[in-house]
Amino acid sequence: MPDSRGPLPDKLHEECGVFAVCAKGNAESRKNPVELVLGGLTALQHRGQESAGIALGGFEDPDRLELARAAGLVTSLIETGEPARLSSGEAGIALGHVRYSTTGGSGIENAQPLVGHSRKGAVALAHNGNLVNSAILRELLEDGGSLFRTESDSEVMLNLIARSLPKKSALEAVRDAIRTVQGSYALVVMTGGMLIAARDKNGIRPLCVGETDGYWVVSSETCALDAVGAAFLRDVQPGEIVVADRDGISGSNREEKTETRTCSFEYIYFARPDSVIDGIGVYGARVRSGRKLFQEAPVEADLVSGVPDSGIPAAAGFSEASGIPYGMALVKNRYVGRSFIAPDQEDRERRVALKHNALKEAVYGKRIVLIDDSIVRGTTMRSLVAKLRGAGATEVHIRIAAPPVAYPCYFGIDTPYRSELISNRYEIGELTKQIDADSMAFLSIDGLMEALAGTSRFCTGCFAGVYPVGAPLPTEVEGHV
Ligand code: AMP
Repeated sequence: MPDSRGPLPDKLHEECGVFAVCAKGNAESRKNPVELVLGGLTALQHRGQESAGIALGGFEDPDRLELARAAGLVTSLIETGEPARLSSGEAGIALGHVRYSTTGGSGIENAQPLVGHSRKGAVALAHNGNLVNSAILRELLEDGGSLFRTESDSEVMLNLIARSLPKKSALEAVRDAIRTVQGSYALVVMTGGMLIAARDKNGIRPLCVGETDGYWVVSSETCALDAVGAAFLRDVQPGEIVVADRDGISGSNREEKTETRTCSFEYIYFARPDSVIDGIGVYGARVRSGRKLFQEAPVEADLVSGVPDSGIPAAAGFSEASGIPYGMALVKNRYVGRSFIAPDQEDRERRVALKHNALKEAVYGKRIVLIDDSIVRGTTMRSLVAKLRGAGATEVHIRIAAPPVAYPCYFGIDTPYRSELISNRYEIGELTKQIDADSMAFLSIDGLMEALAGTSRFCTGCFAGVYPVGAPLPTEVEGHV
């Protein structure tokens, strides 16, 4: 997807959440599918705040498709009154999406679900992830006469499905599309009276299946299953396609070789701590990262504290391993909004300054260890160290529960241009000076792997610059660094 900052994107701007339900044909009573999806999307709100949308279809009439989308939070969507108008009389399928975008295309035109009508009936699609070969696929599709309404790579997927639908079954059409695209996707598609869910062959973005009163449920994260009272059944496997219809649910693996490389940043920052991804609890992974961080980079101090909210579990782990008491050192103003995506550095600094205050009463005269989940541009940490010193901390030691983010992500995490990544620009000594800390350390990649404690392997592209997808990545294609 093109970037508003120039024609040569070093990153692609999508982080999203998907949630879908499919009615079981034999259920006697069931909840309202629209309410279920709105509940699920609300629990996935952390995955995207730019737009929210829901599409509803049925089993009987393949053309039936109702859609409601709005810019902003799920509450903004509800406040439009549109979701309440979606009829839910006939048992059917509903799917929804929350979208995170950056300074570029945050407009409603890029909101999902994306929908279209083919000769075989309506298609609705919601996607979390990034396709790395979407530009070339889009060109080929446009050469063949396809029209595009959005800038989104997800529309490439929709068009690929639509192209196969006249000649093939819905499942085959989705399979064809998936064979053609490269990159990351956790995908839900509604067409032909089926809900089809798919995860890319590396399982980069999470996707799981659950069930509740008369419905099969597919969700980006397990926290949304909990929110709607659904029981977790299993994760969608890398390279698997799951199909639900009124007769049941089944999964099939694509023939192609799969290799699990779940995004490690999901565990570090992006996912909610109460989610479990591929059998690994996010909260536990963060606590273990904190413990490991102490083993790798011990320090003497009076108080361990975490940057709210995502630094807190690692700080608990660090405190437990070190025996240094844990306490609050910072108060977060939760109404400031996302400083991270503000368009320029001045604006980011202004928002970060408003976002936290140091708790003078807790930090005065103390040696503080401050833990955060990650450092990207360094804006947050620079500001926090200054605040802690201003509040009378005698020493400020920074510990980061992730390795340095030194490379861009092409698969759906919002990391900026390589030149903006502070760990790409400075070695640790210079970085410590820049941040004005007394000492500073990052978790090693091996330490992170140990903390994740999984049997599978993970994508560490943003730390190591080695990516699981073999296709040429946008920078290499464009020659931009
Ligand atoms: P920075 O201030 O640029 O160093 O960003 C690091 C801070 O932003 C940390 O407190 C992280 O919790 C948070 N963060 C890290 N990655 C992201 C992301 N992709 N989107 C939004 N916030 C992030």
